[in-house]
Amino acid sequence: MYIKFWGVRGSIATAIVKDEVKMKLEKALAYASPADLLSPEKVDEYIESLPLSIKGTFGGNTTCIEVRNKNNDVFIIDGGTGLARFGHQLMLEERARTGMDIRMFVTHTHWDHIQGIMFFGPFYIPDNKVHFYSSFQDVKDRLRYQTPPTHFPITFEDLPVQKEFHYMPEGVEMAIDGLTVSSKAVRHPGTAYSYKFKDKYNKTFIFCSDAEFNLDVIQDIIPFIEYFKDADVLVFDTQYTFSESFQKIDWGHSSAQMATDIAIKSNVKKLILFHHDPSYNDEKMDAMTIQALKYKELMAPTHFLEIETAYEGLEINI
Ligand SMILES: [Zn+2]
Ligand SMILES: [Zn+2]
Repeated sequence: MYIKFWGVRGSIATAIVKDEVKMKLEKALAYASPADLLSPEKVDEYIESLPLSIKGTFGGNTTCIEVRNKNNDVFIIDGGTGLARFGHQLMLEERARTGMDIRMFVTHTHWDHIQGIMFFGPFYIPDNKVHFYSSFQDVKDRLRYQTPPTHFPITFEDLPVQKEFHYMPEGVEMAIDGLTVSSKAVRHPGTAYSYKFKDKYNKTFIFCSDAEFNLDVIQDIIPFIEYFKDADVLVFDTQYTFSESFQKIDWGHSSAQMATDIAIKSNVKKLILFHHDPSYNDEKMDAMTIQALKYKELMAPTHFLEIETAYEGLEINI
């Protein structure tokens, strides 16, 4: 399975601004030694050695994940603003301009998970077909609600792509183009669903964002531990710091510490911190990553769990 992150931000798309770019340049220049600038190759090497908060950005687009099976079939989790850029990339493949099937999984329909749908190039090709999968039975109506003529120049029904809707009852495994997919409801305002993808080699990828795991949920964690058990990759909602998570009960999100505890208990191999708060700049994201790694070292120094923070462009092969 191949996984690529096109949108990692929570709640609202968050563009990087001029002063933040200036700060990155100032830091990069301040840390450089004359030897780092001797040749283009040395400059490249130096830039590569810098933390992501200086050499780049975690990204500002909202939730969108691309998943491909071994046959290169395209699966998408959520259509946040990151979907627009993925559309530009996919349109470079001939089949996206001449007719292909796309499978889109909808976790829930908060704005940050659907705003890219009307900006996805392949949906304007009549020979393409999209299969929407969701554990919400009314997902078709929900997607129609977002585009009345007062809110968008064309309606969802007018999108030229052929549309099919598939209901996924929670907890039931469905075979979908070479992958086995199932869902689990998670605590979030209006409910959201986590989706689990398993391939024929038993490699497992779980997407679990917009999910509040707090001390209440921990009381009844066993069904979740079973669901997450032995996952190769678990993408988890870590919008808040540990202290914020106590102030924001019922806001529908979790902390990196909670995610780490659950991943350790479930023997997850790789945990990806996801759904970054729009108020966090890249520097804070680096700090959050270091904090999560330290927490893991403290709680389970010998456990094999790896932790990484999601950024736009992150690619994982399992
Ligand atoms: Zn969200
Ligand atoms: Zn949400």
